[in-house]
Order: sequence, then structure tokens, then C-alpha cells
Amino acid sequence: MRFKLRLAVCFSMIGLTLTGQGIHAGDISFWFNYDDSFTTSAGSNLTAAQSDFAFVGTYISSLVKTGFTGNAVVQINVSGSNDSSSGVLASAGGYANGNDGFEKSFTQLLVQDNIKNTSSYPEAFSNINFDWNWGYGGSTTSTEIDFRFVLLHEMFHAFGFESVIDASGASPYGNSYNDFDQYVKGWDGSKYVNLVDRDSSNIPTGVIANAANAVVDSTHPLLFDGPNVRAYLNAGAELYTPSAFEAGASISHYNYPGQLAYFQFGYGSKNFGFSGLDQAFLKDLGYTVVPEPGTCVLSVASLIILVGARRKS
Ligand SMILES: [Zn+2]
Repeated sequence: MRFKLRLAVCFSMIGLTLTGQGIHAGDISFWFNYDDSFTTSAGSNLTAAQSDFAFVGTYISSLVKTGFTGNAVVQINVSGSNDSSSGVLASAGGYANGNDGFEKSFTQLLVQDNIKNTSSYPEAFSNINFDWNWGYGGSTTSTEIDFRFVLLHEMFHAFGFESVIDASGASPYGNSYNDFDQYVKGWDGSKYVNLVDRDSSNIPTGVIANAANAVVDSTHPLLFDGPNVRAYLNAGAELYTPSAFEAGASISHYNYPGQLAYFQFGYGSKNFGFSGLDQAFLKDLGYTVVPEPGTCVLSVASLIILVGARRKS
């Protein structure tokens, strides 16, 4: 078993049966397992920060349902830091088994298939750098960074929006890739093709010859070409593939500035929530996504996803 990466608030929702759609789905709840570094680093913002974790968890729970009749509790270990020298706002990632294949993360397996990992690992983890000037509670000024928005970004990673492909253009774990990676297409010099080759059983068999070039091709960026994303955009979604590979940022973000899964955020308030494109990604990652409720308020130790921002001088 490979782990591709590397006190508690638990809330749950009422069970839901989507009989109208012939879908029987349960609810997700989150167990945010805050360690001492989080409490210490958050300081006087602890209550506000934890409240926003709960808000984001509730939002995700309102949209993403389990793929079976029961409910699921997703454990996310949360740490904190206070690093004034770092351009990183926050990070998150998931764990997965190391089998050959396009492996679902622990979160995907739990939420979609009711398979709880038997390791000592949680489903995912996140770290918040409290040195930044965060705006909590959905109230963010022009000199603050929208905490809820960045949290949702991190949880998107925790739910499987992340690639394991490194600067070599291949997985560092042989033929074990993330589920996400099966939909990644790269420019072979004349056309887009699957970056990762696979056999008739969808087991990876290697990567295209120029994969190392394809992952730093900013002219023909990698595409995420899952069926739901393609249907939404009438094209594959461009992934973030700068001409110099950025570990933790390249491939594991899309290339649309200002949107949720971009790699970098500026100051000020953002429009909270998963866009239609984001929801298409979630569906391609295997999740059951229901229409967004109106007024009703009701989810790898190899890869750390970085979110950067430029500091105001
Ligand atoms: Zn990110």
C-alpha cells in the first residue's frame, strides 16, 4: 500500500433520498481534526476559522452526496502555521492506495463506494498559513484574503482535484496514478492525446514520449478531458502548465484566473461556491452532485497542493 502523500468538529446532515432521480444517496459529513499547530497558529481567529470550516463543509454536503444509500464521514486532519516568509496561503491533499491504476483517493472511495480505508491515515489533510490577512465569515475587505473561498479550493483538492504527475511527465509511483490523471491530455507535437497510456482494462502502461515537455507546454497546455467537463465547455478544460514546472501547482489547478481552482488568489471578496465547471469536474471525479439549493442551508503522502498569492508590499 502506497500513501501518495502525505479538536475536532463533526457535523452531519439529515439523510436524503433522491427518489425523483432514481438516485439513492446519503449525506457527507466532515470531521475536521484540528491539531495543536492549528489552534496555536490561529490564535484569536480560532473560532472564526473553525466556523468557516464548518460553513464550507456544510456547503459541500449540500451539493455532493454519497454514491450509496448510507452516509459518510470524511476525516480531514487540519494543521496550521504562521510563516511570514512563505507565499503559500494554504495547502491540502489526499491519500490513496498505491495500486497500479487510476486510483481513487481515500475520499473518493469513502464517499462514492462506501469503502473506508483501513490505514491509520485520514481521508485527507490541510494546512492553513495564518500569517496571511484572512477575511473570515464571508466578509472580506480589499486588504484581506477570502478564507471561505480558499478553504473550498483546498477541499476541492481533498476531494480528488489533484494530479500525481511530476516534472518528468509521469507518476513517481510507477503505474499508479490519481483518478484525475486518466482524463489528462497532452500535446504530442501535433495533436492532443492521453498523456498516460493505458491498456484495455484502463491500467496505465506508461506515458507518451514527450510527456516531460507536455507538462510544461504553456502554448498547448494540458487538458482535462472528462466527459462532464467536455460537455460543459464543449472542450477539455485547460490545466495550469507553466513553462517551468511548479510542484504542487502545475497540473493540479486549472488555467482560469479568478476561478476556484486557479493556483493563485488576490485580495478581496470572491464569489463563493462551485461553478458549473467545478461541478462538472466533481462529476468526472465520480461524485454524485445535486442541484444547488436555493435558500436551504443545509469531500496520496506525495503531493501537497500549494496556493500562492502575492503579498502586498
Ligand atoms: Zn490549490
